[in-house]
Amino acid sequence: MKKIIYLDNASTTQVRKEVVEVMNKVMLEDYGNPSSSHRLGEEAMKKINEVRGKIANEIGAKANEIIFTSGATEANNLVLNGVCGMENSRKNIFISAIEHSSVYECAMNLKSRGYNIVEIPVNVDGIIDIDFMEKNIDENTLLVSVIHGNNEIGVLQDLNSIGKICKKNGTLFHSDCVQSFGKEKIRVRYWNLDFISASGHKIGASKGIGFLYVKEGLKLKPLFVGGGQEAGRRAGTENSPGIVGFGKALEIVKKEKWEDVRKIRDYFVKELIKLGGRINGSLDNRLANNINVSFKGLNGENAILRLSEKGIMCSTGSACNEKKEKENRILRAIGIEKSLMNGTLRFSLGFETSKKDIDYVLKELKKIVE
Ligand code: PMP
Repeated sequence: MKKIIYLDNASTTQVRKEVVEVMNKVMLEDYGNPSSSHRLGEEAMKKINEVRGKIANEIGAKANEIIFTSGATEANNLVLNGVCGMENSRKNIFISAIEHSSVYECAMNLKSRGYNIVEIPVNVDGIIDIDFMEKNIDENTLLVSVIHGNNEIGVLQDLNSIGKICKKNGTLFHSDCVQSFGKEKIRVRYWNLDFISASGHKIGASKGIGFLYVKEGLKLKPLFVGGGQEAGRRAGTENSPGIVGFGKALEIVKKEKWEDVRKIRDYFVKELIKLGGRINGSLDNRLANNINVSFKGLNGENAILRLSEKGIMCSTGSACNEKKEKENRILRAIGIEKSLMNGTLRFSLGFETSKKDIDYVLKELKKIVE
C-alpha cells in the first residue's frame, strides 16, 4: 500500500495507540456507568474526574468548570444557545467574521429569537479589528465569541486584549479553542474568558468527545435535560472511554515538539512561495502546523484529488464546509479575490510530518501547478 502523507490534521487526527489502549481498558474492564453507586461506577467516575482536573489545569481553570460534551459543535451550540436561554436585557452578540460554522450558524439562528448579530471584521492577515470592538461593544453586548486559532487560515487572535474589552463592558466572552487547545497557551482567568470549547479528535483522541469550560457561577440553559449528569448542565451518560482517551491524548500532545513542526512548516511556506503561491493569514500569529496557500488559476478541488491519488491528504478548507458553502466565508473575510479563492489549499501538518514528506508533496504539487 502506498504511504499516506497525512496533511489534514486540522480536520481530524489519527488516534494515538496509547489512547486506543486506555479506551479499550475502560470499555472492557472499567465499563461501569459513572452514575452507578457500585465499585465499577465509582471507578469510572474517578477516572472521568481525573481527566476533568487535567483539562482544567491545562487552561488555568478549576475542575468543576469543565463540562464534557460530544465535541466542539455541541459545546459551541451549548454556549450560544445557553447564554441566550437565560433572562437578560442585552440583545447584541458579536462574533468574528472568521468563526467556524458551528458558531456562525448558531449565531445566525439566534436572529429569529430577537438577537442582533454583529460580525467583527478582520484585516487582510485575518487579525480581528480591536478598534472596532472598542468602539462598538457596550452595555447592550451580551456575548462576544472569537475563535482562538482559525481552522482554515491558522491565525491566532490576541484573546487577552479582547478579554479586557469584554470585562470593561460586563460582556460574556467565549472562544472556540479547538485548534489551539493542547498546543498553545490558554489562560482562562488571566484573559477574562467565561467560556471556551475544545474537541478531542484534533489532538489524537477519538471523535465524539469535547468540552466546554464555563466560569464558576455562570448559568447556561442546558441543551439536553434528563439524568442530571455534569451537574445538571449536560444530561446523558458520560462517554467514559472517550473522556479517558482525551486525557491520555492531552498528556501526549503536551510532550510533542511543536517547534520542530513549525520549522518544517516554515520551510514548506518558503518553497510554496517559490512555486508562485500566496500564503493566506498572518505568518507571525499563527498555529505552528497550518498553511493556507492560493495559486492563481489552480482548481483547488481538482488538485486535492490529484494529490490524493499520490497518497497526499490535504483539503481546500474546513471539512465541515467542504460540501456546503459555494464561496469560502473565511477567505472572503480576508478579502481574497475569487480567482485565488478557488485555487486554495490547506495543509495542516502533524508531529510525524518530515522534511522528506514535504519534498515529495512539493514535487507532486509542482507538476499540478505548472
Ligand atoms: N471549531 C473548530 C475551529 C473546528 O475546527 C471544529 C472541527 N472541524 C469544530 C469547531 C467542531 O468540532 P467537532 O468536530 O468536535 O464537533
